[in-house]
Amino acid sequence: MSRVAYVKGQYVPLSHAAVSMMDRGYLFADGVYEVVALYRGALLDEAGHLDRLERSLAELSIPMPMTRRALELAIRELMRQHPQQKNGLIYMQVTRGEGVRNHLYAPNMKPLLAMALLAAKYPTAAEREKGGKVITAPDMRWARCDIKSTALLPNILTRNHGATLGAKEVWQLNREGQVTEGSYSNAYIVDARGVVRTHPKSHAILGGITRDTVLRLAREAGIKVVEEPFTVAEIAKASEAFMSSASSFVFPITQLDAVTLPVGPITRKLMGLYDAYIESLIHA
Ligand code: PMP
Repeated sequence: MSRVAYVKGQYVPLSHAAVSMMDRGYLFADGVYEVVALYRGALLDEAGHLDRLERSLAELSIPMPMTRRALELAIRELMRQHPQQKNGLIYMQVTRGEGVRNHLYAPNMKPLLAMALLAAKYPTAAEREKGGKVITAPDMRWARCDIKSTALLPNILTRNHGATLGAKEVWQLNREGQVTEGSYSNAYIVDARGVVRTHPKSHAILGGITRDTVLRLAREAGIKVVEEPFTVAEIAKASEAFMSSASSFVFPITQLDAVTLPVGPITRKLMGLYDAYIESLIHA
């Protein structure tokens, strides 16, 4: 069955979905995106992702392309167009729209929404048991990483650098040698006392929607969470480490630079809690 995309108000075959070369998304990466996981027929944390989309757009003074309700309905129509597909990623992108090529944008530009249901590869039980390798590298991004901009070149370069070294993810270091986040996920360590550490929400990281859920579930379960940056030196003393994202869920890190780590009890607990949370959404 051929895939369908939503572009400029129409559902078209994905292979034919196109926008103008003069769209500012193409010219300048002047736009934002969101990814909502579709897992066993359920949209995971849709409200959180749409909240973040609205926030990213507001920070760039790009209006919402349609009302929130209309966007929710468009997502459901996209799902209805792919009745067989129970797992996937709802990818949506909003650019400032089409105009002349000028850094200055016109005051009343019409934002362009494009959306598709893409393939997802969720982690298997065996992959989670094995865990992943993470290396560290300088964070070369801009000063507003909280905005989910389509300008992903630094993330792309960093992730590909990691991949050439066999790493699943790269944890990015600021000038103080602190881990901000991964190139496509949030980063966490667990110390010897079982305390979870992760960078606080700020302009330096993308506030992950999975991160929000994981930290809520951790606190509800009585696991102590400290939202403070951690350094490379602290990585060396960590008992456990893991990452999170909409498509990775909670994923254990078993090699962090030169340090080998087990899939430890706190990571296992959080994987279990997140899985149970997803299960509750599937059956809701
Ligand atoms: N940080 C970065 C840089 C990301 O690109 C992502 C998601 N792709 C995340 C964190 C995790 O965010 P979420 O849990 O909302 O997927």
